[in-house]
Amino acid sequence: MQMDSFDKLYVDQLRDMYNAEKQLTKALPKMAKAASNQELRTALEEHLEVTKRQVERLEEVFRGLGRPATGKTCKGMAGLIEEGQEILEEDFEPDVLDAGIIAAAQKVEHYEIATYGTLRTFAETKGDTKSARILEEILEEEKEADRRLTDLAESSINMEAETAGEETGDEEFEEEGEGRTSPRAGTRQPGSESQRRREGDGPWL
Ligand code: FE
Ligand code: ZN
Ligand code: FE
Repeated sequence: MQMDSFDKLYVDQLRDMYNAEKQLTKALPKMAKAASNQELRTALEEHLEVTKRQVERLEEVFRGLGRPATGKTCKGMAGLIEEGQEILEEDFEPDVLDAGIIAAAQKVEHYEIATYGTLRTFAETKGDTKSARILEEILEEEKEADRRLTDLAESSINMEAETAGEETGDEEFEEEGEGRTSPRAGTRQPGSESQRRREGDGPWL
């Protein structure tokens, strides 16, 4: 097929996304594993399955174009995944880490939404309705994944991240607590470490 430059742009963008989705099939399991919130973990695991199917549907688009399904390193996705990895490597409390995982995952979804919107419109412009339909379906899946993450963040995870320090008593509170004289000072309370800390923190929280 003799390609004009718009064809080349279209195919290059498809190859970029094909590679991006493949990168994601490796990154999503790591993010899911790092998540503590069960619903977040499930959402990421389910999106992994969706992503694997998207790889196959992109192959279908390549077939329709009579082009080999070959990727081209997507630096945008590589960068987003790298930033997500940095969050996983931080020493965050589990609830805060969950909020960070959502932040990273939503950047990925928005990147995909931008690209699939463009690709769908390119396909429409070319009169390639079959590809346009596939790309539109994928676009909707990415939007759905993004909405689900927003719901999780807004309904529970962000609030849990906000109160994370209070529940476990973080370093600052602990140090402050130990320096104060309270009626219980020096009295070792039975129960878990976190329970003891919570009691010690009581008066000024
Ligand atoms: Fe995707
Ligand atoms: Zn890219
Ligand atoms: Fe996605």
